[in-house]
Amino acid sequence: MPGIDFREARARLSLAAVLDLLGFVPLTRRADQVRGPCPVHRSRSPASRSFAAHLGRNLWHCFRCGAGGNALDLWAARTRQPLHAAVLDLCARLGRDVPWLPRPPARRATPPTDAHTKEKNTMHDP
Ligand SMILES: [Zn+2]
Repeated sequence: MPGIDFREARARLSLAAVLDLLGFVPLTRRADQVRGPCPVHRSRSPASRSFAAHLGRNLWHCFRCGAGGNALDLWAARTRQPLHAAVLDLCARLGRDVPWLPRPPARRATPPTDAHTKEKNTMHDP
């Protein structure tokens, strides 16, 4: 399976969209910072403000369970999936294309030993 361009995935999958998907209801909002119950450890009280998200910077942190990260980390933490699977899941749910990394060239065409020799030669050439 080809790799995912996580940088591009973070750009396409906003924290606001993930919070929407989680049904997060902010208790307080100041500029682009929201506070409310934590979707990761699932605060028992709907009045909890342990979870803080900075929508502009796509970062979040929970003062109770200590979890934090970006939008992708939030979905992975909440759905208990590895990051790779969480991104595929998120793209499907939000109707976004998965940002695959370009496929690396076939291994047979360039054996690793040849590549190393070439690299060395290039480095030592004046
Ligand atoms: Zn938490």
